[in-house]
Amino acid sequence: MYSDKTVIITGGARGIGAGIAHAFYEAGAKVVIADYHAENGKQAEKKYDCERVSFFETDVSNEQSVIALVTYVMEKFGRVDILINNAGISSFSNFYEMTVEEWDRVLNTNLKGVFLCSREVAKVMEEGGAIVNISSTRAFMSEPNSEAYAASKGGIIALTHALAATLSEKKVRVNCISPGWIETNNYEELRESDHLQHFSKRVGKSSDIARGCLYLCDPNNDFINGTNITIDGGMTKKMIYEE
Ligand code: NAD
Repeated sequence: MYSDKTVIITGGARGIGAGIAHAFYEAGAKVVIADYHAENGKQAEKKYDCERVSFFETDVSNEQSVIALVTYVMEKFGRVDILINNAGISSFSNFYEMTVEEWDRVLNTNLKGVFLCSREVAKVMEEGGAIVNISSTRAFMSEPNSEAYAASKGGIIALTHALAATLSEKKVRVNCISPGWIETNNYEELRESDHLQHFSKRVGKSSDIARGCLYLCDPNNDFINGTNITIDGGMTKKMIYEE
C-alpha cells in the first residue's frame, strides 16, 4: 500500500520513531529518518542498508534545519506523502524551580517542532497526503511536576485540529496519536504489576503506535480527520479511587 509513498519520521533514530520507521519500511515506503542524534540516525540507516531508507540530521526545533530537511527529501525522492511528527523530549522538573530555559526547550522541541515540520512539509505535500502527530496521554491526565511536557502535548492536540482545518483545502489529513506507556528499552524486565494494571494486561510497544500510524495514513481511512486516537491499553479510562 505504501510502496509509492515517501514518509518522513522525526525522531526516528530510536524508540517509538524507530518502530514507526520500521513499519513503513516493511510496508514498502521510502523512509526518511529525521533526528538530531547523528550517531543513532546513521546506525539506523546502516541497519537497512538500502536506497529506500535514509537519515538526515535534523533539529526539529530549528527552522533552518527543518527547511534543509524538506529540501533534501524533495531532491532525493521528489515528494513527501506522509509526515510523522514523533520527535519529543520528556523532562520533568520541580514546578517552582523550573527555569524559562527548560520550559522553552521542551515547548520548542515538542510543539514548535510539530508546527515547523508541518508548515514546511505542507508546502510541498500533494493531495492525499497525511500528517500524524505523536502527543501523549499526559495531554489529558497528569502527575505533579510535568507542566512543560503536558502543555506541549496538549498543544499538539489543538494544533492537530487547526492544521486539519487549514490543510483540508489541499486534501491533506492531520491526525494525532496519544500513546500511554510504551516501553522501548527493556520490555522483558517489566514487572507483572506493570502489565496487569492495564485493561489490556500489558505495557505498550512501539509496534502498537506504528500500527496506529499505518491505519491513520491509509487512504481508505480518509474520513478520519483532525482527531486523536489514544493508544494506552485502557489506562486513561481506568478509575483509580482507592478502595
Ligand atoms: P525517545 O527519547 O526514545 O526518542 C525520541 C527521539 O527523538 C530520539 O531519537 C531523539 O534523538 C529525537 N529527538 C529529540 N529531540 C529532537 C529534536 N529537537 N530534533 C530531532 N530529533 C529529536 O522517545 P520515545 O519514547 O520513543 O518517544 C517518542 C515520542 O512519543 C515522543 O514525542 C514522546 O513524547 C511520545 N510519547 C512516548 C511515550 C512512551 O511511553 N515512550 C508515551 C507517550 C508519548
